[in-house]
Amino acid sequence: MPSAEEESAAEAALAAAAAEARACRLCAPHLPLGPRPVFRVSTTARLLIIGQAPGTRVHETGIPFNDASGRRLRAWLGMDEATFYDVSRVAILPVGLCYPGRLPRGGDAPPRPECAPLWHPRLRPLMPAIRLTLLVGSYAQTHVLGPGQMTARVRDFRAHWPEIVPLPHPSWRTTAWERRNPWFVEDLLPALRALIAEVLA
Ligand code: SF4
Repeated sequence: MPSAEEESAAEAALAAAAAEARACRLCAPHLPLGPRPVFRVSTTARLLIIGQAPGTRVHETGIPFNDASGRRLRAWLGMDEATFYDVSRVAILPVGLCYPGRLPRGGDAPPRPECAPLWHPRLRPLMPAIRLTLLVGSYAQTHVLGPGQMTARVRDFRAHWPEIVPLPHPSWRTTAWERRNPWFVEDLLPALRALIAEVLA
């Protein structure tokens, strides 16, 4: 058990790193709406959600997954908003901390490539209580596990169980993907909900 002094030093170290990240402007010239890092970290969180990057609504509000994708993700996880946004239990750290803009052909641009290599190694080691990491979408999966095919990886969800679970990005496009892959709702989600309940208990 860490002493009260050790806990307080760990909290101070994480708060300092998070403050630096929130002040980051490294790739500002590439960000159409400017830097606004959106993430939530704590030394006590047991569940870490690594997503893609903020969309415009998340950029405006500063609240991660505060959109239709977030509602779909919470429904998958069987998690209410109060639990999802309880940073003492759930940390949220996307691959790109700021809104990256749109692609010319439509859809959000990929997370900025400078971001995760800079901030994840600074922030992740300062969250020692994490027991389960959800990799939400192919960018998060590639960042943590290396290159791979999203559906194959999610289907093989027990490969890194119970520490790491890959999930699709919960965009509206995933509705059709869910219909094509019924094992996701029938097998993965019930097992994941039980695992999350155990991790957060
Ligand atoms: S996307 Fe990441 S690297 Fe770029 S300004 Fe935001 S925090 Fe910094």
